[in-house]
Amino acid sequence: MNRQEIMEILAEYSVIRDGHFVLTSGRHTDRFLLCNQLTMYPDITKKLVSQLAQKVKPFQPNVIVGPAMGGVILAYELASILGSRAMFAEKQSDETMALKRGFVLDEDDRVFIIEDAVSTGGSVRKVIDAVKSTQAQLLGVAALFDRTSGQVDFDGLPFLSLMEINITSYDPDDCPLCRAGLPLIKPKS
Ligand SMILES: [Zn+2]
Repeated sequence: MNRQEIMEILAEYSVIRDGHFVLTSGRHTDRFLLCNQLTMYPDITKKLVSQLAQKVKPFQPNVIVGPAMGGVILAYELASILGSRAMFAEKQSDETMALKRGFVLDEDDRVFIIEDAVSTGGSVRKVIDAVKSTQAQLLGVAALFDRTSGQVDFDGLPFLSLMEINITSYDPDDCPLCRAGLPLIKPKS
């Protein structure tokens, strides 16, 4: 699928929402990707993740780890395609995520991280820290959608995405949408 075909899917499945949203980072934006509108449809999710999997495959990971919640389904789907194991990291404190539920990584493991959409990369960084606290080898990070204009740096790790979707975000103290009086939406609640 090319960029236009993917954008048509995002519109058709109402993944792209326009309005006034607060991101996990606290910044405000006029456009949000509600990726679980996509994962509601396993067939289309599989198509998109399969395309991303072609980029990840040469790294030969044997474990895929996603941050909860967005990365849980995608880690499973990518692992299913690549024949690897799937795990997820979840909130441990406000600043950290951890592998819980008996998930263990050891020195033989070659790990790729997957996230749905990366805007500031905060969740991914927490998963990186969780993986780095083990003996496993961290190979890189994948996301369906890169919203950072290629600006994010995950400790120099390869960062692969299906597609870049550049979306403006604003400091909440200097947000034109706030000034326009538009109601602020928490898009995931
Ligand atoms: Zn605002």
